[in-house]
Amino acid sequence: MSTRKNDNIKCSFCGRSSKEVDSIIAGPNVYICNSCVMSSVDILRSNSAAFTGGASTGRKNVRTPAELKKALDDYVVGQEAAKKTLAVAVYNHYKRLESKQVFTDTDVEIEKSNIVLIGPTGTGKTLLAKTLARVLDVPFAIADATTLTESGYVGDDVESILVHLLQNAEYNVQRAEQGIIYIDEIDKIARKSENMSITRDVSGEGVQQALLKILEGSTVGVPPKGGRKHPEQPLININTRDILFVCGGAFAGLENIIQRRIGKNPVGFGSDMMTMTKAERQYILTHVEPEDLLRFGLIPELIGRLPVMSSLHAISKEGLLNILTQPKNALVKQYVKLFEMEGVTLEFDHGALEAIVEKALERGTGARALRSIMERSMMEIMYDLPSKESVTRCFITRDVIESGAEPMYTVKEQKKTA
Ligand code: ADP
Repeated sequence: MSTRKNDNIKCSFCGRSSKEVDSIIAGPNVYICNSCVMSSVDILRSNSAAFTGGASTGRKNVRTPAELKKALDDYVVGQEAAKKTLAVAVYNHYKRLESKQVFTDTDVEIEKSNIVLIGPTGTGKTLLAKTLARVLDVPFAIADATTLTESGYVGDDVESILVHLLQNAEYNVQRAEQGIIYIDEIDKIARKSENMSITRDVSGEGVQQALLKILEGSTVGVPPKGGRKHPEQPLININTRDILFVCGGAFAGLENIIQRRIGKNPVGFGSDMMTMTKAERQYILTHVEPEDLLRFGLIPELIGRLPVMSSLHAISKEGLLNILTQPKNALVKQYVKLFEMEGVTLEFDHGALEAIVEKALERGTGARALRSIMERSMMEIMYDLPSKESVTRCFITRDVIESGAEPMYTVKEQKKTA
């Protein structure tokens, strides 16, 4: 074995030439570059950890659904129904994993409870999935269904989702295989109409078919560093059987499909589709059934793999106010902490918080807008504050948010010099 710096030599694994890498090691008719050596070490490490059980799966003892919901309550405001549904689904999911460990020849196989969350943007769908992973201490990855394509088309292969999960599991395959994947905008890959018999919708249905493969549980070879697979590249096999998939989407117009199914006046409302209020739409969404998703344009096989459904509702003014102040890592708490580090007590007038919420409501992107509004309002203040030495308290009023006025500062009394 020797190292080479000959321009014509290419790494037999990744195909890069010696110019593109730091060094290449040569064996008899075979070459490997320094970065492929490092990847190989990672792979061997993760495999041996999985094999010997050296690295734990990381999953804490399964908590009861009530405990799980309580943990979610620390970070996610409201959305009670979705939290309960998720808690039960996740509890069953991990019980299913445990049952397999205990009774290997059990004849009742509990099916996986992948989940669909239906609700407008910025209502906490991603946050719920992310928080679950955090509470359970399992790796987590987010994918956007609209960027995915079937293999062979331009875009990310569905397997790229697994690459992210593997990376987040620090290449511990066993941990990755028990992780949670959130697939956003699942509604955007729906077929465009119910009767697509003549023109097949490649972008939508093809991706649904590709997703189905990983959702139903299969062993997928993924390139450790992502990107397209190519023949000489070493692949890591991931079995997706025990990965929990949470899919989310706004499903605009789904309420009309449900309304049509259950009849004109099924739930005590005298309204038709055109005059449905927000509350009525939300109520109708709680009646979602698999057949409604089918009419919306998801293929039956995929719906079959997403047995748990729950809807999230648009967040009210009150809810947004709570989101600003209540969660463990609420925005207001984060800023208070930042200011505390400057030795300054930060306080918000109720009117200031209301102004932030009013601006967020105007944007119509749920709680998502809160952060950027807050950041914009606080930017100037945070720019100036470190240069203002004697400030001990900063009070944010409605005017600060609405018109960029100066906050009210309390200044430490300076000792008069004689
Ligand atoms: P989506 O429903 O579009 O997936 P996200 O979960 O990404 O929405 O929410 C965007 C941001 O808004 C989150 O990072 C979080 O800070 C905040 N947020 C949304 N809903 C809630 C909620 N119910 N409780 C607390 N924070 C929320």
